[in-house]
Formats: sequence, structure tokens, C-alpha cells
Amino acid sequence: MKGQSIIPPGPVAVIGAGTMGSGIAQALAQAGFSVRVRDVDTRVLDRGRAQVERMLAGAVERKKMTAARKEEVLSRLQFTTDLKEAATGAVLVVEAIFEDLEVKNALFRELAGLVGETTLVATNTSSLSVGRLAEGFPDPGRFAGLHFFFPAPINKLLEVVGGPATRPEMLDELDRLGYRLRKIPIRTADRAGFCVNRFFVPYLNEACRLVEEGVASMATVEEVGRELFRATLGPFELMNVTGIPIAFHAQTSLAQAFGPAYAPSRLLEEKFRSGGPWPWKATTVDPDKKARVRDRFIGLTVGIAARLVEEGVATAEATDRGALVGLRRGIGPFALASEVGLADALRLVEAYAAPWGDRFPVATELRNRVARGETRWELQRVRTERYGSVVWVLLDRPEVLNSLNSDLLAQVEATFRTLARDPGVRCVVLAGSGPVFAAGADIAEMEAKSHQDGIEFGFRGQATARSIEEFPAPVIALVEGYALGGGLELALAADFIVAADDARLGLPEVTVGIHPGMGGASRLTRLIGRGRTKLLTYTGVPIPAAEAERMGFVARVVPSASAREETQKLADLIAQRAPLGVRWIKQVIDHGMDSPLATALYLEGTSAGQTFATADRHEGMRAFLDRRPPKFEGQ
Ligand code: NAD
Repeated sequence: MKGQSIIPPGPVAVIGAGTMGSGIAQALAQAGFSVRVRDVDTRVLDRGRAQVERMLAGAVERKKMTAARKEEVLSRLQFTTDLKEAATGAVLVVEAIFEDLEVKNALFRELAGLVGETTLVATNTSSLSVGRLAEGFPDPGRFAGLHFFFPAPINKLLEVVGGPATRPEMLDELDRLGYRLRKIPIRTADRAGFCVNRFFVPYLNEACRLVEEGVASMATVEEVGRELFRATLGPFELMNVTGIPIAFHAQTSLAQAFGPAYAPSRLLEEKFRSGGPWPWKATTVDPDKKARVRDRFIGLTVGIAARLVEEGVATAEATDRGALVGLRRGIGPFALASEVGLADALRLVEAYAAPWGDRFPVATELRNRVARGETRWELQRVRTERYGSVVWVLLDRPEVLNSLNSDLLAQVEATFRTLARDPGVRCVVLAGSGPVFAAGADIAEMEAKSHQDGIEFGFRGQATARSIEEFPAPVIALVEGYALGGGLELALAADFIVAADDARLGLPEVTVGIHPGMGGASRLTRLIGRGRTKLLTYTGVPIPAAEAERMGFVARVVPSASAREETQKLADLIAQRAPLGVRWIKQVIDHGMDSPLATALYLEGTSAGQTFATADRHEGMRAFLDRRPPKFEGQ
């Protein structure tokens, strides 16, 4: 359970107003923070401010923002050359100055005397060690990496990097900050290249090597890169857009950390020195050469990605998320390995690694999986977190607003079926891992479904909903952001819904030509009646949490800022009550509701009678009379 923010409302400081600093300042101001930007001279500050104004004006032109909102965002930005003015009273400082250890360390030493005792300090470094940078700061527990991607106000990926001393609460806090900035945070360890650049920059370099070795033409390599990773741009055009020097410098620093297997290609170095764009359009595609290029790209990408997991730099889920969100690829390295088949992927990794020997080690984890006969590298779409006897089941595909695909549904069901066997679990909270519960079924997956697949998908979803409904202990669905379509259908299978006050709930299936099939319409009819269910399903228009509460399918609305804390308190309260009393009344209500009143009354009476035979009722009544809290054992 991620609680309320520990960043109190307050100003933040961004140090450095260059390409990244001004973009980061803009992202923070757009999220409602008042931001003080510091650079060394006023000309740089003017350039930084002009860059923000240009970006915002562009957003207004594209009708992504109103002119009034642009002014509001600008009014939150203050530019200064005075470090003291920027840092004093800031709750968070983000550093985005030159990529130089000495320069950065000097800044952190200076900052140490200016910031408060709880101020969080984050560096946007791409290639320096967060741990080494933290040495310049007296409290490294409050120091972490916050790696934005270019262009910072637009690219949604944020790498949250823990140094050796960073306190876990700070990383949680930076995740929350990321979501507040409408980004998707991924956690990485403090290793060169962090997660995404570690496999992305070598891909650019490999493109150059392939041409240099005469394996294929630039146009062939460009086309394979685009097709294989389902991206809009291939490696050469990407470098033309983002800068060949950046690729060269990034590859050079990876080579310093990981040796010659990561050395910049001669062609890349030459291009860096001679300047100008890659002339890939002047070359032609040779279809016969595509397979070799593809194999090399797969070997390199899967090889590095599997190492990231083995070295504990990032999880497979974070790695794929990084590729999808930060690189806007249509497929991440692990999904690619699954698509190719793990055995074939391993063969390609081994072929790639062979000339490098132990300088490009093959992950044992990949070999073990293949040895176990696994054909896919399954990604976890559901996470659980346990707090005493309360378990949070978190839907975890934030890159697609937790939209429900077959993997996610199967994993939710497996999670509930497993937890059901654990008598120590007294209450479950079903929620999204990020700020959204679930925005419905995965339309991209659904679009490809046949008539038969569609039928199966509905029943598959029903089985998942039933695993929630039949869970022996109470299940609370906490809806933050959105619960739409299949998302709301899952939430309706919980015992009740708690919703954040800014959440929206709805069943918009008819807007894409289908209607609810996972049981949502039937459950909702039983909860709020035919008329209201029809209103929601015919129009498909989502409604605010307060209206859903009035209609009767949200049991409680809580403030958005403290939704998780309030829900944890509620779950703790339920978990303290007599477990059998709670479990049995759940059965009485659920089975009684679908029975004639006489049957329901009989069930209720008999079940209540059974409670008298439990040890907990003796304990409960004795404790009441002794005026002490009861100690229930679930017996
Ligand atoms: P930049 O050269 O555009 O900007 C750096 C700015 O820092 C300059 O305006 C400079 O005047 C200022 N500066 C230097 N020392 C300062 C100090 N003591 N106080 C205040 N300002 C100071 O560089 P950039 O591309 O914005 O990169 C900044 C950081 O972000 C680097 O650590 C870089 O590795 C990282 N980064 C860059 C990218 C990218 O694509 N450019 C992406 C991710 C991270």
C-alpha cells in the first residue's frame, strides 16, 4: 500500500536550465508545483524560459492546452541565478547540470548547507553513478536518481534509481511523484546506463557495426530495426533526430563500465567526428540480408535484457515497460523473446555472445528457463503487497492504464485462488499499482479476436471475477482514476467498492460495438436495479465517484490524496474483527441475495447459530465484558 505523499506541498527547485532542466521544470509546473529554476547566468535562464514557452505554445496550437492554462503553468515558474533563493525551503531539488562528477559533487556540497533536513535531492544524470554523486551530500538516504528522457515534458518514462544508501521511502515517494507528473516510473539499480540505455544505446551502436562489417546496408538495418521493435523510426533515423554525439558519448560510457563488447563502433566514432546525419535514405533495402540483421538485434537485445534481470538492475516487467513507454516500441525485449520462443532466443543470444566470450556473459536465468522447457518469459501483470493480514492485489500494467488482457486476467485469478488457501489473509484490497484502477479490456488484443475468441474472453473474465467474488475473506476494490468496462466489472465482483473522490466509473463497451460480458451488467442490476444499469450500459458514459455512491454501487468515497491510507485503515479494521463471523456473513449475504427470503432467513439464522460454536465468540464476548480488546484466532 503506497500511502499519502511525504512530499509536503511546497516549492521544488530545478538546478540547470539546459535541454533537460527546462523540460523537467515544465513537467513539474504542469503538475501543479511551483518551481524555481536556477542556472549560472541570465542568458541561459532566458533560453530555458523561451524553450518552455515554445513547448507550451506548441501544445496550445495543437489544442492540447488552453492559452489560460499555458499562462497558469508559466506563472508557477521562477528563474534565478541565486542557488540559495532556489533551494531554500524546497521540498525537492532536481539536478540537471553538466554531466561531470566534479561539477555535480561541488553543487551537492553547496546544496547541503541550503536545503532543509527533509528535502529530497535527485540527480538526472544519465551515466554517472548515483552512489558516487551521493557522496557529496551529507544524507545519502535522501539522495536518488530521477532519470527523465528527452523530451522531458513529453516522454512518459521516468527511471527511479536507488543509490546504495537511498531510503526505500524516498523511492516510493519518487514513484508517486512520477505518476503525479503523468509519467510511468520504473525502478532501476545504480548501474551504468540504468535500464533502458543499457540495451537501447548498444542497439544504435550495433546498427553501425552491422553496416561497418558489411552485413547489410543502412536502409536494410533501418527497416529491420523499425519492423522488429515495432517502432516509428529505425536506428539511423533515431540518431539523426536525437543526435549522433549523444549516442557516441553514451556508448563510450557504457564501454567504460562493461568493456569492449560495448565499445563504440568505428563507423559511429567517424560519424561523430565528421558530423552530419546518417545518409540511410540514399541506400537500398536488400531483403535477403534482413534475417541476419534481425538475428543480431535479437541476440543483442535479449542478451542484455536478461543480464539486467540477472544483475538485479531492473525486473523483466520494468525493462519491457521502459521499451514501450520510453522508446515507444510496440514490443519489449522479453515479449520479443517470448514471441521468438525462448529456446530460439537463447540460441541467438549465444551466437551473439560467442565472439565476446566472458565479456558478454549470457544470463544463467535465460539458460535455466530454457532448460526447464519454458517457451515464454512470463511477465507479472499482478503484484501483491502484504501488510499484516491485509494483502493488496495490484493490477500492474500502468503503461496501458492496466487494461485487461488475457495474461492479466489469468494472473488475477491465479493470485486470488492462491491467496484463498491462506487462512492468514483476513482482507484483500484490489487496486491499480499506479493512479488508475483499470481502463477496461485491452482493445488492441480484443480487436484481433474472432467470434469464438470473443466468447472465450467473456467467460475467461467471468472466471476471474468469480475468483474475486468467491474469495473466502472480504475483498475491497479501491478505484482510483478510472474503472471502466472490464475494470469496473472486476471491481463489481469485490465485496464493495471504495472510490477516490476524483475517480470515474463506467461501462462504455457499447461505444466500441460490444457490451459487458464479464458479469458486470448482471452484478450491477442486482446492486442498483435495471433502470440505472441500463442508463450506464446504454450510454456508456462514465460517472463520477459521488454519483456512483448515490446510485449505490460505490460503498464509500474517500479523498483522492489519502485513498490508499483510508482503505488500508478500513481493511485493518475488518481484519481485526472475528474472521469467521466476517467470512460467514459474506456467504449469508451473497447466497441470501439470490434466494427467496425464507431461504435467506434460514441461512442467516443457521449461520449465526454456528458462530456460537466458535472459540472466537467466547473470546469476543468475554473481552467485551472484561472491557479489553478481543484476540481472535479464526477458530
Ligand atoms: P545542457 O548542457 O543542455 O544543460 C546543462 C545546464 O546546466 C547548462 O545550462 C549549464 O549552464 C547549467 N549548469 C552547469 N553548472 C551549473 C550549476 N552549478 N548550477 C546551475 N546550472 C549549472 O545539458 P542537458 O542535456 O540538459 O543535461 C543535463 C543533465 O541531464 C546531464 O546530467 C545529462 O546527462 C542528463 N540527461 C540528458 C539527456 C539528454 O537527452 N540531453 C537525457 C537524460 C538525462
